Amino acid sequence: MRQDRTDSAMTDDEWMAEAVALAIREKGSDPANTPIGALLVKDGKLVAASVNHTAEHCDATAHAEIETFRAAGKAMGEMRVEGSTLYSTLQPCGMCTMASIWVGVSRIVYGAGRDDVHKMYFEDRNLDTIDFVRDAYKDDLTLEGGVLTAECAKLYYGPDDDVPEDKQANQ
Ligand SMILES: [Zn+2]
Repeated sequence: MRQDRTDSAMTDDEWMAEAVALAIREKGSDPANTPIGALLVKDGKLVAASVNHTAEHCDATAHAEIETFRAAGKAMGEMRVEGSTLYSTLQPCGMCTMASIWVGVSRIVYGAGRDDVHKMYFEDRNLDTIDFVRDAYKDDLTLEGGVLTAECAKLYYGPDDDVPEDKQANQ
């Protein structure tokens, strides 16, 4: 254990572990509750963090990432957080990826990707947000998966889980 560790020395794995812990703390670890955690970090410091509140707020746009951006805007007193990194336990959907562009996020780092979880978590079969970013007009946003994938994927229904149709709510 390093004695001189500061927040700015936190690794992607450590930030993702925070996101996983937040998701479990707020939503529990049952996939039925869709525990998704997101953090926004800038210059090695946590700006804001949230979980998804779609069911609680009756708001289809209240994904963990969007909730985090809203909290970040309030915390910073401005709508953009240029050069920030978004951590999410689940690969962000198209809406959240686009919102990241508006916020000024430079890096999106996620845990479980679309191949690690049930297809219900994603809005379509063919569009991958990696392609979405590539095809968008912003070219300085990077998308990186594979951070604590197993720990994150455990929070959700797996690709082969038999999820009843009426339980297949999106994030
Ligand atoms: Zn989303």
